[in-house]
Amino acid sequence: MLELARRAGAKILQTSTSEVYGDPKIHPQIESYWGNVNPIGVRSCYDEGKRAAETLMIDYYRQYNIDIKIARIFNTYGPRMALNDGRVVSNFIIQALKNEPLYVYGNGSQTRAFCFVSDIVDALILLMNNKYNLPINLGTPDEHTILDFAKYIIELTNSKSEIIYKELPSDDPMQREPDISLAKEKLNWEPKVSLEEGLLKTIQYFKERI
Ligand code: UDP
Repeated sequence: MLELARRAGAKILQTSTSEVYGDPKIHPQIESYWGNVNPIGVRSCYDEGKRAAETLMIDYYRQYNIDIKIARIFNTYGPRMALNDGRVVSNFIIQALKNEPLYVYGNGSQTRAFCFVSDIVDALILLMNNKYNLPINLGTPDEHTILDFAKYIIELTNSKSEIIYKELPSDDPMQREPDISLAKEKLNWEPKVSLEEGLLKTIQYFKERI
């Protein structure tokens, strides 16, 4: 794709990921942090794949000066996400709507910050129309533990579900929250949709489909 972009003189966007920071030792994560990634763990093909892609993007930028954009997207959710992607937002909402148990991995003290899809789309459009060529975090600084998140989904769905604890998958990052100062400065952007508003829309979407 980089070669095609070079030949066509096109802009190219990599939708990278907060996973490039691995299980971060710096909190919240800033773009200049190099990360703490296991190169041979179960998540490595994803993490290192995304990191290698960033390297290729930057090399093409250095060598051919092509107009690259690298968005490090943190946890994102919203209507039209796959029902069976096995990730926390879809799992918890479906389990809660069916009054089945919600399975919290580990003790639920790990954190994530969930950004609504329309905010990320706005940011990606702004990024594509911007001259900035280095990696930029996109997400929300609204951090929650997974246990609190489970309780919140139960509350918003008026569910009778209980919470059951399961083993924590290996290399599951313990904390994750973006520092979005750079996006604020370069793109004049910050998320607008609250977690409550975004989750209610997402719950409605799932309700219509299960
Ligand atoms: N998680 C959980 N129950 C689930 C799915 C995920 O407790 O049914 C936890 C998972 O261990 C992780 C967090 O929720 O700590 C977010 O997981 P997800 O796969 O959605 O995203 P990622 O780990 O890539 O941020």
